[in-house]
Amino acid sequence: MDPVEVFSAGEKGRGLRVTKEISAGEVVFAEASFAAVVFDSLSLQVCHSCFRRKVNPHRCAQCKFAHYCDRTCQRAAWDEHEQECSAIKKIGQAPNENVRLVARILWRIQKDTGLVSDAQLTTLDLLDDHLSELSSEDLKDLKVDVQHFYNYWPKNSKPVGEDYVAHLFGMVNCNGFTLSDQRGLQAVGVGLFPNLCLVNHDCWPNCTVILNPGNQTALDTSLHSKRRIELRALGKISEGEELTISYVDFLNVSKDRQQLLKKKYYFDCKCEHCISGIRDDLMTAVRDTHGHQSSADVVKAVTDFSLQALVKIEEARTEGNFHEVLKLCHECLEKQDPVFGDTNLHLLRVLSIISEVLCFMHQFGEAAGYAQRVLDGYTKLYPPNTAQLGMAIMRAAVTHWHAGLIETAHSLVCRAYAILIITHGAQHPITRDLEAMRTQTEKELRLFKQNESVYHSMRETVLSH
Ligand SMILES: [Zn+2]
Ligand SMILES: [Zn+2]
Ligand SMILES: [Zn+2]
Repeated sequence: MDPVEVFSAGEKGRGLRVTKEISAGEVVFAEASFAAVVFDSLSLQVCHSCFRRKVNPHRCAQCKFAHYCDRTCQRAAWDEHEQECSAIKKIGQAPNENVRLVARILWRIQKDTGLVSDAQLTTLDLLDDHLSELSSEDLKDLKVDVQHFYNYWPKNSKPVGEDYVAHLFGMVNCNGFTLSDQRGLQAVGVGLFPNLCLVNHDCWPNCTVILNPGNQTALDTSLHSKRRIELRALGKISEGEELTISYVDFLNVSKDRQQLLKKKYYFDCKCEHCISGIRDDLMTAVRDTHGHQSSADVVKAVTDFSLQALVKIEEARTEGNFHEVLKLCHECLEKQDPVFGDTNLHLLRVLSIISEVLCFMHQFGEAAGYAQRVLDGYTKLYPPNTAQLGMAIMRAAVTHWHAGLIETAHSLVCRAYAILIITHGAQHPITRDLEAMRTQTEKELRLFKQNESVYHSMRETVLSH
């Protein structure tokens, strides 16, 4: 039994709390998806069983839609694909991801009567759909999906009423959990995890959720493990304390976070950080030069300039015009640097983009300087054990490493590792990458300390290859 129980969390509705003390990095519970699908746009590049990205995946010969790492992954997924496979074959093409997900949920409900195991703490009927709060436009989209669903749903499957189908679409819309690939770099699909749906939001949460892709490719079947999410504790949680995760990135001022949450999840966040606007001052910081700060008018002008510049930067980046991105970023930084403080979000966004693009263009030395500034800002803003912070430190470590700044690179790798061991655990593919990196930077650092010139000539040999 997992050490959790459902309780009434006041205005927030139901919540989950722990029944014993939990320590940092502990998995509070793991949960296999009730149903999950790969996004339409990635259906040819991501395994429909373990959600890993895969070059030249193996295609299902029947529907020609589903793709897998190999036959082992295909076999592991057959149970959830069987009915879908014949439905896709019948209509000649796969419907969109929402329709595929709702159909998978329904096939599963009909097979298992909705409750999958004793460990499942809620039924899908009890999860909110927020249909009454949808805008007329969203409601129209939902009705189109319902229509597509009925074209797809096979005549030989049990008939379902339109209200229930609409409930499921609404429920998936606000309870679906986005799944990322094995490196945590790209959102690749969406799944429904009923217990996870019970975990309420807090902008400064005590838990995080990661996807563990499982191991279905092990030669020995006894070593197979299922794709699952893990709810991991970010620090010590006392017995009886409510479990929380953050549904949005903390790096938005409280007013913006509240707006995002209202729009996507239909509630007003009343967490401590939103109510008191904690760290809003840092996120909108104005530079202080010998007791002098820019006037409110100047700050507003640079803020407006930044917002417009970021739109142009994003456009240039999408077009792959990286020289234009650099030019725009430099222009923007020239205006921002004298006015904004180090933790100002507009400044950090530009710094993060310029560092990323410089890396892409192999200008690692310059990129490392910007990456360091991003990290200094993030460190003051994010909660200490945050996956986003850990990943940012990891990226900065790689940048410094490529720039030949081995001392900083190694210490950043160690810092990232200390966070990821908590947010992702020792067995996660990202943590393992980081561990391999740490071994390598440690070796190079030793060499560097013994003889700097030998280290640099070795590096040049490696780089010239
Ligand atoms: Zn796979
Ligand atoms: Zn198939
Ligand atoms: Zn909040």
